[in-house]
Amino acid sequence: MNAAVRIDPETGLKVFNTRAAKASEKIRGKGYSVLADQKLKELPETPAGAIFNAEEQAKYRAFKEARRGAADYMGMEGEFKRYLDDVYSEPPIPREALTDECEILVVGAGFGGLLLWHRLSEAGFVDVRFCEKGGDVGGTWYWNRYPGIACDVESYSYLPLLEEMGYVPSMKFASGFEILEYCQNMAQRFGFYDHCLFHTTVKGTTWDEASGRWIVETDRGDKMRARFVILANGILTTPKLARINGMEKFQGESFHTSRWNYNIDLRGKTVGIIGTGATAVQAVPELAKIVGQLYVFQRTPSSIDVRDQRATTDEERATWAREPGWARARRARFSKISAGRTAIQANDDYLAGKIQEIKKPKIHERELSPEELTQKQLDSNFRIMEQIRARVDAIVKDPKTAAALKPYYPYGCKRPTFHDEYLPAFNLPHVHLVDTAPRGVGEINERGVVHEGVEYPLDVLIYATGFQWMGTSTFNMVTGRGGRTLKEKWETEGTKTFLGLHSHGFPNLFIVTGPQGGGGSFNFTDAIDAHSDYVVWMLQTMRKRGARIVDVRKEPEDAYAEHCRDVDLATAPLRDCISYYNGEGNASPGSLAYYGGGKWHKHRVHAQSTLEPYVFEERDPTV
Ligand SMILES: Cc1cc2nc3c(=O)[nH]c(=O)nc-3n(C[C@H](O)[C@H](O)[C@H](O)COP(=O)(O)OP(=O)(O)OC[C@H]3O[C@@H](n4cnc5c(N)ncnc54)[C@H](O)[C@@H]3O)c2cc1C
Repeated sequence: MNAAVRIDPETGLKVFNTRAAKASEKIRGKGYSVLADQKLKELPETPAGAIFNAEEQAKYRAFKEARRGAADYMGMEGEFKRYLDDVYSEPPIPREALTDECEILVVGAGFGGLLLWHRLSEAGFVDVRFCEKGGDVGGTWYWNRYPGIACDVESYSYLPLLEEMGYVPSMKFASGFEILEYCQNMAQRFGFYDHCLFHTTVKGTTWDEASGRWIVETDRGDKMRARFVILANGILTTPKLARINGMEKFQGESFHTSRWNYNIDLRGKTVGIIGTGATAVQAVPELAKIVGQLYVFQRTPSSIDVRDQRATTDEERATWAREPGWARARRARFSKISAGRTAIQANDDYLAGKIQEIKKPKIHERELSPEELTQKQLDSNFRIMEQIRARVDAIVKDPKTAAALKPYYPYGCKRPTFHDEYLPAFNLPHVHLVDTAPRGVGEINERGVVHEGVEYPLDVLIYATGFQWMGTSTFNMVTGRGGRTLKEKWETEGTKTFLGLHSHGFPNLFIVTGPQGGGGSFNFTDAIDAHSDYVVWMLQTMRKRGARIVDVRKEPEDAYAEHCRDVDLATAPLRDCISYYNGEGNASPGSLAYYGGGKWHKHRVHAQSTLEPYVFEERDPTV
């Protein structure tokens, strides 16, 4: 067997063999059913007279205010640390601790890491090393393997490099298991595995001014040096738990959806699932097929839009085989669709280039003010939500359950979800919705969940309580100039980046798809693509100039942060609810996702053509 670390005689670079993924038939599955019943795949017409009037607005406000402060999340610490165990892997491959140097060190081996490697190696940057907490590639798709997991963005646009890989996804919305396999195939094809240290968690990244290098420390005792560090550690990486009284007392089996424990046989069991966000919406229909009794504990309902899953057709395969560039063109068209619902639903004729517009843009008699435009958007948003609510009534038979499943907030304010089997699951005699609105589950005891004096005894309790969005806590591991961590900087000054990719005082550091990082669409691999291209551009620019260090100036960073705040505030009425997107209502405007759409590219192009925001240092401190 190959050693975990060896030297490539041709390049002199270290080559790794640390992949430890467990091969298990239990950790597989499908993320979909294809349904014949057309009625389950359609939204009802907008109910007549649907207007977002004062009464409806008041209803939305009351729905929101009742939930304010109800979200109380905690990390997986103490006895709950076990929920973070890597259940998909063999034990870590033993290896020596590394104390050497590489040019570029990347944290994370999800699509971010994989695409960065593809772009960097193509551009001739090969002294690149990846550190990944898990035992294999895939990131999101490595960790999340719950039954029913599937892509919510159409997979012909979501999966990057389809033509380079010679691959066509089997379904319009590929299962997470297919996506994981695709990531593994990408890693094989592009030689990624040789560059990745698996089961290696970066604990500290400290800028050393004297040498102009980052010192990267890991939980494997490594203390490596790197000229550049790229954080590609994801936006939804850190799972969180709802803090519930007595949760430590529960005597049955329990786990979080992002570490699905396939060793627990759920067949015929009484199972509870806490949370009804995007994960639960995909998992509940699959759970309902196997468990004895299923209790779904809901605080806030998701919007359940149409999925309309289908297999890739023979005609599509044949057409794409004759059309070089089809995947790139489709991704580009996808990124142009800006309206939330249309984007994720994705019109096939438009994406295939058969029609040029999804629908004719509305021409108004006069130019509307931004406020009027927002009101128009809110009105059409309301009509979509009315359809979503009408769908609940059309499908769910018990009126009390149907009433509880109806969401009252603007479409897209919380993560939109798509499923054709979730709502019908609540018509099954063994599936029970426990409405815990508006404050959520209040107590757990030895036997199960207790709500409003009723005990729900459970064999297994599953936490579908989601993730920290934009994982800002991970930034406390990055210490820049003057010994200041990124977290400290953002806590005192507010989130400050340039393009989301740089932060002043943290030279030679790139953050991929972090806070304020635009450039993408509803399709996250799009943003990863844009950021990877940017990183390569910067490294090439530095190479041409003979520059060793790059930082951004404070003024353009301040201006960019201000811009992020402005575009967030300008579009905030469209996201007026309590959601992880806005830190449960507590995030400062502009501090998390970027809401300026295509404006990010304007900022990027200006910076790239003028180079004004950057400070380049040409001298290498060690030379
Ligand atoms: C259940 C789920 C479904 C999703 N569905 C969609 C979808 O349909 N469409 C869409 O566009 N997006 C979706 N997303 C968002 C998804 O995260 C992105 O599309 C994309 O996969 C992110 O890739 P990434 O490489 O940036 O991050 P990730 O895939 O999260 O990978 C980051 C990696 O970094 C590693 N890491 C983190 N910290 C450290 C550390 N300190 N040291 C070492 N390693 C570390 C993690 O282990 C992880 O493997 C989904 C997310 C989730 C959770």
